Amino acid sequence: MSTPYRLLVVEDDPAVSRGLVYGLRYEGFEVSTADTGARALAILRSENIHLILLDIGLPDMTGLDVCRQLRSEGKRQPVLMLTARDEEIDKILGLEMGADDYIVKPYSLRELISRVRAALRRSYGELAPSNDANDEIRFGNVLMNIASMSVYKDGQPVILTPIEFKLLRYLVNNPHRPTSRDALIEAVWGYTSEIEDDRTVDVHVRHLREKIEADASNPRWIITVRGVGYKFEP
Ligand code: CA
Repeated sequence: MSTPYRLLVVEDDPAVSRGLVYGLRYEGFEVSTADTGARALAILRSENIHLILLDIGLPDMTGLDVCRQLRSEGKRQPVLMLTARDEEIDKILGLEMGADDYIVKPYSLRELISRVRAALRRSYGELAPSNDANDEIRFGNVLMNIASMSVYKDGQPVILTPIEFKLLRYLVNNPHRPTSRDALIEAVWGYTSEIEDDRTVDVHVRHLREKIEADASNPRWIITVRGVGYKFEP
């Protein structure tokens, strides 16, 4: 059996938090809780969390502040905002590095769980989650944490888009193996390329190289295989 996903519920209302935790555990998720923004950020720095359920109204800061802070630390986990008021929705969606989705209170547990599953699918695909040390992959001065979808270069967070992260994860998980652009499209974007769409892959590879390679024009990790595509060379 695969390791269950671990979720973090950030909610200061004890009754709401208890109800969420009960429902999510019943569905097979592992759940950590925090009742302030500061505790949430501390947990996110020390535990492998796959998804965050984040209340907007917290005692020490807003959920939006928590979201902004964790994104600035390079953490890319999906965030579902829990909001009591409709007028907050624009703010949530307007955030450049903000939440992935939101739910307006009162919501049904069933609705919430289906949103959680959808967000996990979007972010992690069919990849089984893991909480062990192998969750971290290191090559040279680059460190990848799979659970938090974060990447660090020389200890500094590298901000990757979700697609760049999936592309890097796919290449790293298939070392030494030359992969065609079509196969990458299918694995990373999740559809079969009917048209000549090679540029898409090339553009994303270029951006990825600029972010993680010491010299993007003379790459060390993501190698072009002439006539085929790309490969990761650890
Ligand atoms: Ca609250």
